[in-house]
Amino acid sequence: KKNRKPALVVKNASKSFGGVKAIDDVSLTIDSGRSRVMIGPNGAGKSTLFNLITGEIPLDEGRVFIYGEDVTKKAVQRRSELGLSRTYQISNLFHELTVKENMYLALQGKGWELPNFFSFFIPWFKNEKRTSRVKEVAESVALENKLDTLVSNLSHGEQRQLELGIALAPDPDIILFDEPMAGLSPSERVFMKKLIKRLATEKIILAIEHDMDFALSLTNDVTVLHQGATIADGTPDEIKQNEDVRKIYKIQNTE
Ligand code: ADP
Ligand code: MG
Repeated sequence: KKNRKPALVVKNASKSFGGVKAIDDVSLTIDSGRSRVMIGPNGAGKSTLFNLITGEIPLDEGRVFIYGEDVTKKAVQRRSELGLSRTYQISNLFHELTVKENMYLALQGKGWELPNFFSFFIPWFKNEKRTSRVKEVAESVALENKLDTLVSNLSHGEQRQLELGIALAPDPDIILFDEPMAGLSPSERVFMKKLIKRLATEKIILAIEHDMDFALSLTNDVTVLHQGATIADGTPDEIKQNEDVRKIYKIQNTE
């Protein structure tokens, strides 16, 4: 039943910060079983659009639907219950905690704990459901040997893997990736690409990522955002040929 509705619909969304219209009448549909890549210059509004979809900031105008449910006025928590998850452009890990502890916290309040009030008082290592989930997730992002390592002692690539693990922990259906490959070394990029590609076979992914080869390997659906508006929509080839897109990226390149 869930799968007959589009996974995600954004309808005529707008958002201003002071005088700046960060998102200007954007509409977007992600059908079940299809992933999409979003590109656009810095400041185009990509991260803001993610924040509007997850509910981290409220819309000025427009609506957001997840599997047909109107979540426009609903909290982040409800949207994650419906299967939505995300990663952040800027790391939000707890650097003084271990990999295991970060993952454990990510599962808090997501249905992976004992279903009663007293679970709060039970030491976390006794909570088998969550502990086994943490192990499973650590394996899926190749961090199973780093469970007791402090985040501050992880490489940049490993930190990004952990962020991915945190997004995956609640077992979401839809994942929003905000520049997952930013700042990675060439070998880390290869690894992350593989991980995301594998995920795309079972999850619906909306990824902000500038690497067109990556986009091409993931999906045929690309959206270009510029100054808060979607200016192009099509296959990677169509996007590369698009005059408006070429203009924007030329301007970017000469800066
Ligand atoms: P992108 O992710 O495409 O680089 P952003 O969504 O981060 O773009 O930003 C779009 C515009 O909105 C920028 O002009 C940015 O400065 C502004 N903006 C984003 N978030 C905020 C905020 N919380 N407060 C004020 N301005 C913001
Ligand atoms: Mg951004």
